[in-house]
Amino acid sequence: MRVHLINPSHLAFGVAVITPRWLYVLAAATPSEYGDPAIVDETLVQLDPDTVSPGDVVGIGIHSGNALRGYEVGRQVRDRGAKVIYGGIHATLYPNEALELGGAHAVVKGDGDRIWPAVIKACLDGNEQSIYEGGRVEGGSLLKARWDLLPSERYMWASVQTVRGCPKHCSFCSVWRTDGQKPRVRSSDAVIEEVVELRRKGFRFIALADDNFYPVAMSDLRMADRRADKSTLNNLLAIRAERFELMERLAKLPRDLVFFTQITMEAAEDPEFLKAMKKANIKGALVGVESVTPEGLKDVYKDFNFAGEELVTRLRAFREHGVHVLGSFIFGLPSDRPSTFEATAALAQRAEITFAQFVMLTPFPGTVDFQRWEEDMTKEGTLIAGIPITRHWLIPQGQRPKVYSPHPVMSADEIRFRTQAVWDEFYSLPNIWRRSSCTPNLRARMAFVLISKLYRQMYANTGIATDSARVSRAERWARLLAPPTRRLFAAPPMPDLQVPN
Ligand code: SF4
Repeated sequence: MRVHLINPSHLAFGVAVITPRWLYVLAAATPSEYGDPAIVDETLVQLDPDTVSPGDVVGIGIHSGNALRGYEVGRQVRDRGAKVIYGGIHATLYPNEALELGGAHAVVKGDGDRIWPAVIKACLDGNEQSIYEGGRVEGGSLLKARWDLLPSERYMWASVQTVRGCPKHCSFCSVWRTDGQKPRVRSSDAVIEEVVELRRKGFRFIALADDNFYPVAMSDLRMADRRADKSTLNNLLAIRAERFELMERLAKLPRDLVFFTQITMEAAEDPEFLKAMKKANIKGALVGVESVTPEGLKDVYKDFNFAGEELVTRLRAFREHGVHVLGSFIFGLPSDRPSTFEATAALAQRAEITFAQFVMLTPFPGTVDFQRWEEDMTKEGTLIAGIPITRHWLIPQGQRPKVYSPHPVMSADEIRFRTQAVWDEFYSLPNIWRRSSCTPNLRARMAFVLISKLYRQMYANTGIATDSARVSRAERWARLLAPPTRRLFAAPPMPDLQVPN
């Protein structure tokens, strides 16, 4: 009997940018009596079903984007006589769907870290339940990943989680509902040990793969301080202190280690935090800008963000502290107009952000937006390929719409073309080359150009284009660019590196 862990994907690039952390965490949760699990990340290469034998146990993690492929894999391995267990955000939201469509014997809702061994055992004993509640595991109990199982020369960046959960409540995001609004902070010991292990193996770039690396904003502290009962304030101050302690310890690691994380724009008002990030060599952060207009921010319940020139100042504050911004923008909001696209492109240049992604508004399950959209669309009863549009993740990939909500003034195609044009402009070679001047030497500059082009091919062309020729071209380009880009990110291993005191 063997345990298999599978990250499904309908596209495989041979080399991936970031390690899918959950695979290696669940590997750590797999009891040693079953041996090392076989790990398949289909963003590298697709599963060979012949590797699965009758009586094996197969764990499949799904989000809405890869659920359809996940169900296909599940049915395939069930037909081969394996026990099939689903987990992940999508399975948490729609456990019955995995049972009905994915050949599941069992589904785990919530975190798998603690419940996984019991589910495997029940499957092997033949007395599994259909649905398990994994709950939300406390920060101190979140497991270290089994990085010893990582295949060599396949990933550019490793990923380590330092905190789970986000206190905000953006309408397009499901994180605060699935991972909770209470930040669950891991101890700095656990984080540093993982980072050291990864640097020993030759990883120099590490994503701190958190829902929100800045879970306590200055405004949260001010609000808590106004209350007579100071327990919330003390709790928030303790979380903040733990963040600083972690950054202090990251700063003691070899200086060639570079970190990247995900953060809210509120951090721009906290120079002490930005200085600590700089000292810790956290050189990049994905910042959810979403919209450059106040109306757009209201559309997504993100009125703690800024718009216009104030937004430019905030984004520049990151850069002034040595933190490069990957700005994330959403197009297709009800308040967007044709002029919003140009205004966004211009602002992205003016604010000197280093990377950007321009996504089209998609109602993802588990979000407030989805709830409202589902109610409206259910009345209309639209079907695509025989599937209700309200279950869009089940529509075959090539037939999935790219724009889901009718827009008050623009057609779906207009939003798509304009979004594509903003990607083209931001990632034109002259613009990439100009931005690459922020790097210290020619090798770094080359890495910057390659990763920019790769990012564009992997995410824009495969995500926005509707014609299959363009998608396959992008896939081919990404396959070609990925191996040399990975080599530029690697560093000589440091097998003797020790955890600093
Ligand atoms: S988009 Fe970011 S800030 Fe908003 S709820 Fe999700 S994780 Fe939190």
